[in-house]
Amino acid sequence: MLQPVAVGQKTLADYTHIVGRPLIEEIRELAEPLKGSRVVHLSATAFGGGVAEILYTLIPLMKDVGLDVEWQVIYGREEFFNATKLMHNALQGAPEDLSPEQWDTWRRYNEMNSRELTGGWDTCIVHDPQPAAMYSLVPEKARLWVWRCHIDVSTPNPDTIAQLLPYIREYPQSLFHVPSYVPEGMQGTVNIVPPAIDPLAPKNMALSPEDASYVCQQFGIDVDRPLMCQVSRFDPWKDPLGVIDAYRIVKEKLPTVQLALVGSMASDDPEGWDFFNATIAHAGGDPDIHILNNFNNVGSIEVNAFQSHADVVIQKSTREGFGLTVSEAIWKGRPFIGGNVGGIPLQVRNGISGYLVDSVEECAERSVDILQDPALGKALGRRGKEHVRANFLMPRYLRDYLKIFTAGLGSLPAVEQPAA
Ligand code: UDP
Repeated sequence: MLQPVAVGQKTLADYTHIVGRPLIEEIRELAEPLKGSRVVHLSATAFGGGVAEILYTLIPLMKDVGLDVEWQVIYGREEFFNATKLMHNALQGAPEDLSPEQWDTWRRYNEMNSRELTGGWDTCIVHDPQPAAMYSLVPEKARLWVWRCHIDVSTPNPDTIAQLLPYIREYPQSLFHVPSYVPEGMQGTVNIVPPAIDPLAPKNMALSPEDASYVCQQFGIDVDRPLMCQVSRFDPWKDPLGVIDAYRIVKEKLPTVQLALVGSMASDDPEGWDFFNATIAHAGGDPDIHILNNFNNVGSIEVNAFQSHADVVIQKSTREGFGLTVSEAIWKGRPFIGGNVGGIPLQVRNGISGYLVDSVEECAERSVDILQDPALGKALGRRGKEHVRANFLMPRYLRDYLKIFTAGLGSLPAVEQPAA
């Protein structure tokens, strides 16, 4: 029932020229005593959204440095994902908490998955709230348990966090993107670790401007006219409707501008399709608004092409755990405008490597500034790329995990492997 996910192969040495030799050597030293260590990642989906994106790179690199790593996706049916989507929204501040029945559903699926999990792991990393109860249910199945929170829980619905806290507070190690996301009452070691992107993945590898515009052209973009773009799931927190409103203001000044909204649909996100349709309705048939998703064959290379080609990349979120799309866009040297929320300000220095905005109007104004002054866009993009290189590339994230394993396992007694 727990579904294993096959990940490809990656080689840490390939990253040396991008992040520098000292970091690569530090990683090898940290990994040496952990060689052969058995690690399992548990998550809710292998497709769509940031968690899956990260694990497809992080896990191959963990394996490359000698750890024995698996990724398993928990079992869940619609009733479970309806409950966990509500929980996700409530933890990000939405007023509606789960009903008692939905909390029961969440617990029941956690029990089922816990029974299925095999034992004998050195480390079990539980991603996000969906499988978070598993530690409290089967703590004996791994020597070290780590909870990785990928969402913004800085202003949660109080009832929801109160119900969740007993399940998460005792994790010996937990990871949050920024200090303000840490709920009060966490009892283990809390680590502040932002995630990272893979500069060598098809989504982020260098594409020539010609190749990028060639790909965009195939989706109906007029590559000789300016393009604004946002890449993200169709989710109210990502505010695609606000992006459309900002584009409309820009279009009054610059009538040739186009907008691309590129969004994948995640299998654990039942709301996605409704909101996708609402976004199409909001666009009102404007032929210069291109709304694309993975069912239009928009995969990693296409996302790369849109981010590489766009004259301004936007992430106008009103809540954002981290926002991998931010570092993805900035890594391509594009001028970037983002909502001043969650993990976005970590990645963008306002006025230096992009702009942080608090409203539709501000987003439109900044877009016009950039579209009218290509030299400004270039300068923002260049500075942004170095900030991402220094802070948000995958080898740094791998190092942080290895440090946490070392600290967590070092302070624990070895356990015997249970009989199979
Ligand atoms: N993504 C994608 N195709 C799309 C939309 C998004 O591949 O059409 C990717 C995006 O490039 C990023 C991830 O999904 O790598 C989204 O992660 P992020 O942290 O930005 O947001 P989340 O979806 O986890 O809230």
